[in-house]
Amino acid sequence: MKVHHLDCCRMHPPAQRLVSGRGSLFERGTMIAHVLAIETREGLVLVDSGIGIHDVREPVKRLGKGFLAASQPELDEAHTAIRQLAALGYKASDVRHIVLTHLDVDHAGGLSDFPEATVHVLEGEHAAAMARTTRNEAERYRPMQWAHGPKWQRHAVAGGERFFGFERVRAIVEPEVLLLPAGGHTRGHAVVAVAEGDRWLVHAGDAYFHHDEVADPPSCPPGLALFQRLMSVDNAARIANQTRLRELRREAGGLVRVFCAHDEEEFSAFGPPPSPHA
Ligand SMILES: [Zn+2]
Repeated sequence: MKVHHLDCCRMHPPAQRLVSGRGSLFERGTMIAHVLAIETREGLVLVDSGIGIHDVREPVKRLGKGFLAASQPELDEAHTAIRQLAALGYKASDVRHIVLTHLDVDHAGGLSDFPEATVHVLEGEHAAAMARTTRNEAERYRPMQWAHGPKWQRHAVAGGERFFGFERVRAIVEPEVLLLPAGGHTRGHAVVAVAEGDRWLVHAGDAYFHHDEVADPPSCPPGLALFQRLMSVDNAARIANQTRLRELRREAGGLVRVFCAHDEEEFSAFGPPPSPHA
């Protein structure tokens, strides 16, 4: 089993120092959209999908003015998962499953590039994205991104089985991919754990934004702290889940590798992005 780490949306929000904790207030920062492409016997499994080709072509309609102003993404088709996978020799139909941390605009945009894939998401997240109850949710969830009618597989949280401090829902059996409910950023946000041999890759999505938030002791650059508070639907739950992620790193030590969706340093630590000649 091989796992490719892809950056499927490079963003440059204002005020680098407030976002990354260093550099200038007047330069722009860099955030990435960490997507996993897992090679399996039956094809590819993606974790998250970044932004897609249609987002690049119709950014205002598909991504919304709020997201574009706050994140200032590079709009380049070469960054989309479908183009990066094509460079590795894959077709869109090779992607069999997409497991999503949540349905925010920068995580769900690639869905429409893989219409044949089964899309796994927690039931609560699917319900929140379809209902778009609050102003925040009407802006962050973009129905055009799923207007093609994905093959949804909604997962209920039954309770019982645990993954360290988290409840666990098995999304895919082979390889084992778990959805770990971790609401707060959105109602049905999940952390996704992927078995890699006897270890686990833990994609925390937007449960945190900066690697220092899961360090001991934790800290966060002020701009990112404010942004996360403003975007969260349940701030207490969000903070509690960050605490559980810190505990997971402490308790499971060498068995887990935890990273979030948008931290460039965590992404770079996995090495250079895949190249077709590697
Ligand atoms: Zn995000």
